[in-house]
Amino acid sequence: MSSAGKVTYISLSADDPAIDAAFGIAIAAARAALGQSHPLHLAGQTRPGAVVIDSRSPTDARLVVARVAGAGEADLQDAVAAARAAFPAWRARPWQQRVAIVERAAQIVRDRKFELSAWLIFEMGKNRVEALGEIEETADLLDYYAGEMRRNDGFIRQMDRLAPTDQNTSVLRPYGVWAVIAPWNFPYALLGAPIAAALLTGNTVVCKPSSETPLSAVKLTEIFEAAGVPAGVLSCLPGSGRVVGDGLIAHPDVAGVTFTGSYDVGFNQLYRRFARDFPKPCVVEMGGKNPALIMPSADLAQAIQGVQRSAFGMNGHKCSACSRVLVHRDVADDFIAGLARAAEAIVPGDPLDKGVFVGPVATKQSYEDYQGYVAQARAAGEGVVRAGGAVLTDGTQADGYFVRPTVLANLPPDHQLAREELFVPIVAVAVVGSLDEALTVANDTKFGLTAGLFSREQKEIDTFFDRIEAGVVYVNRAAGATTGAWPGVQPFGGWKGSGSTGKNIGGHYTLLCYLREQSRTVCQ
Ligand code: NAD
Repeated sequence: MSSAGKVTYISLSADDPAIDAAFGIAIAAARAALGQSHPLHLAGQTRPGAVVIDSRSPTDARLVVARVAGAGEADLQDAVAAARAAFPAWRARPWQQRVAIVERAAQIVRDRKFELSAWLIFEMGKNRVEALGEIEETADLLDYYAGEMRRNDGFIRQMDRLAPTDQNTSVLRPYGVWAVIAPWNFPYALLGAPIAAALLTGNTVVCKPSSETPLSAVKLTEIFEAAGVPAGVLSCLPGSGRVVGDGLIAHPDVAGVTFTGSYDVGFNQLYRRFARDFPKPCVVEMGGKNPALIMPSADLAQAIQGVQRSAFGMNGHKCSACSRVLVHRDVADDFIAGLARAAEAIVPGDPLDKGVFVGPVATKQSYEDYQGYVAQARAAGEGVVRAGGAVLTDGTQADGYFVRPTVLANLPPDHQLAREELFVPIVAVAVVGSLDEALTVANDTKFGLTAGLFSREQKEIDTFFDRIEAGVVYVNRAAGATTGAWPGVQPFGGWKGSGSTGKNIGGHYTLLCYLREQSRTVCQ
């Protein structure tokens, strides 16, 4: 645990009797409620929805965690119309009232953190530390954004005047109906945070979770409702990307969008198509091909731990996961051997169990992707697969998506596995001759999310910061070479094909993405 007692993404374990006891109760309660049906939450009311989405456990795909109502075209139209109708009154509420509602929601998340973590483990297969970390992060994101409204006095500023009779004010104002589209890997944080940002700034929200994790969205919507979000201001539409996601993007009454997900959907299908008649704010946070650079002066044990945690933690299902290592040839053999040993030492297990570092990969698609990538790696040459490279199907793992953390070395530089985001526990190590070469290779990608350096040379650290093209960068971080950002600590966002705004989430500038300026002059 961290020194403050809170579980975060740098926590190595949640080894604490009180946490164990709370998890025991929460897991038993969730187990007793598995398979229950949940209606659509639309404009403050519930309704049956157009389809039913079975949310299945990746630990045992036969297990239905929840049966969640999904939206159809009529639900989508109703949700946007309700959000549009609710906008003027929500916008007119004093910002302090919106802050109070979001702070209440943060408190509810915190109060229910073990219950929400237990459901997250069942639904997505995160381990206990990662699940609790995400729920704590969600609460902190909500509070951080609420705090930003306070610190900026609601973004209302008196300006200078040209004549003594003028009064000039700059006011940041909301856009209208905001769509929030989220991925499955951080289903609470990456749905809850943009909802909070949009609501705090006076926008109304229609959100769409991933079909892989619809229960998380139901829970979050109930929490915002319980915190006092009025009817119509927030609706939640589980459903497919094609029907609900694309329907929101194409809707003329949707004024802005926050999407978190893949480059292919975020850039090709969404960013390029969202604004039709005039520019609209389009916050797209996408994937990464995040490198760790390891120089001869590095503490190799620190580097191996940092890469192991970032490449294999949460099974590589982090946009910030380390999926490439560029290691100097002087230390390459030792590093590769050490990382291979560290990968082989990981024993995937039931994520509900205390002490398990990785559970199953989260989705059937990820399980299939992993097997396809391993086949490609084996086809690339003898000795490319240095550790892992197999699925686990014995005993209790037979019906789950269990795979071995995998280390690759000596791939051809242009190989697809060395260039594309994989999003499963596979890391590719390449050998370089200098920091200059490492930086050139590191930047030779469409992505620019996170990166890490291991070096004890100040000149190398300065050069890395100056030249690396990424929105979040770390030096000598054993807790995670490229992963583990926290709101208000390391604002998180990508450059290039990893993000559209150049402003990170959980930082000073996030709320500005949800606001537009009105400059007001009143003459006496
Ligand atoms: P995805 O792009 O497949 O789906 C994301 C969301 O978009 C889902 O809700 C999906 O249903 C929806 N969607 C699909 N097609 C759509 C369409 N045509 N129009 C509108 N919406 C559509 O991503 P995923 O598999 O859920 O998540 C993994 C990806 O998310 C990875 O690429 C990862 O790097 C990225 N990610 C990025 C960040 C970040 O902060 N940059 C954080 C987490 C995850």
